[in-house]
Amino acid sequence: TPRVLTKDEHGIDPALVSWQARKTCEALHRRGYKAYIVGGAVRDLLLGVSPKDFDVATDATPEEVKRAQRRAVIIGRRFRLVHVMFGTEVIECSTFRALEGAGVRKDAAGRVVSDNVFGEMWEDAARRDFTINALYYDPATEELFDYHQGFEDIEARRLRMIGVPEERYREDPVRMMRAVRIAAKLGFRIERATERPIPKMGKLLMNVPSARLVDELLKLFTCGHAVACLKKLREEGLDKAILPVLSVVLSEPDGEKFLMLALERTDERIAVGKKISPSFLFGTLLWPQVVKRWRHNEENRGMGRMAALHAASIEVLDTQTQQLSIQRRFQNDMHDLWMLQGKLERRTGKSAYSVIHHPRYRAAYDFMLLRSMTGHVPVEQVTWWERFAEGDDESRAVLISEAQ
Ligand code: ATP
Ligand code: MG
Repeated sequence: TPRVLTKDEHGIDPALVSWQARKTCEALHRRGYKAYIVGGAVRDLLLGVSPKDFDVATDATPEEVKRAQRRAVIIGRRFRLVHVMFGTEVIECSTFRALEGAGVRKDAAGRVVSDNVFGEMWEDAARRDFTINALYYDPATEELFDYHQGFEDIEARRLRMIGVPEERYREDPVRMMRAVRIAAKLGFRIERATERPIPKMGKLLMNVPSARLVDELLKLFTCGHAVACLKKLREEGLDKAILPVLSVVLSEPDGEKFLMLALERTDERIAVGKKISPSFLFGTLLWPQVVKRWRHNEENRGMGRMAALHAASIEVLDTQTQQLSIQRRFQNDMHDLWMLQGKLERRTGKSAYSVIHHPRYRAAYDFMLLRSMTGHVPVEQVTWWERFAEGDDESRAVLISEAQ
């Protein structure tokens, strides 16, 4: 049985709850189902911050949820969810999941591979990762249901795994990365028993499908505390297991400096509410490899500068994107971003005009700025483009003649 906290005890401000989440719960309540806000949103509400997205847990089946909502789609992946749509806002609705049992199948390594069985609310709570992620908030009664002392952990600013940490990491090694990210993001301490097994279990991440690792890595790099996350990943020894690529990047000359600078910029952008594109991030991650091959193609294969860059880009995309399962549309953007680095070196009239009108110019300029910070692009080149992009026809003509 859970501890039930009243609104005076937990102090959640109902004004921070989105009306879409409230409506989703109300529609289910009207039909006699249970429905609660869960997960990261409750955590944020308790910390007094506005959640970026809301998840709802219910005892209604996906079909029943769909029937109760005006616009909803069932999303079938490993576990079926319902997306309740309000314009561009989406509330993710999941049915309580059962604990270990007939429906849960594990592979030889102990990882959960299938779990499509519904269960009770307490079981759903026990299957979540951290105590602070297993709190259920009813927006109608304003009650908070706490099965695992998550409220105390929030107050103590402590991240604690539900159950036996070793077992939970074996079931799903990605939880190690989640621990690092959530702790860094909230500024929480990872409780001892939760932290202790991580260094020795880190290599289990090598068995995780790369698509999931990439998803999690993107979350990590865009959570607004990327630098802190990466530092912590290192301390825990997870960096090597995560991506053969991460260590490849870091072993290139200046690879580490470049990545850290890129992540600092990412954190800054997020702090002021700007967006980060995955292609920019991956473009950064893989750039040191592109440079290496670019140089190789020029020096040892007698290729021209742009041809050598083009070939290098294709080679890196071919070898790395499969491993990283980077989507096709990101690959095209990364290729453009890299090719533009070559074009930015040439400042002749026709080429310069086509560069600033390229849809990826802004990103390419930011990328060049980053490269100049590690000393790989002359500052003079950066200021030239700044002036060229902002100039009128006349001053542009002057700049071009100066550059000849
Ligand atoms: P964020 O702020 O990044 O959204 P979150 O905790 O909401 O953090 P989600 O990935 O949105 O993270 O997951 C929602 C909830 O689902 C979590 O709070 C947790 O209860 C549960 N969950 C997510 N991933 C796992 C996992 N690997 N193992 C167990 N429970 C998980
Ligand atoms: Mg979430």
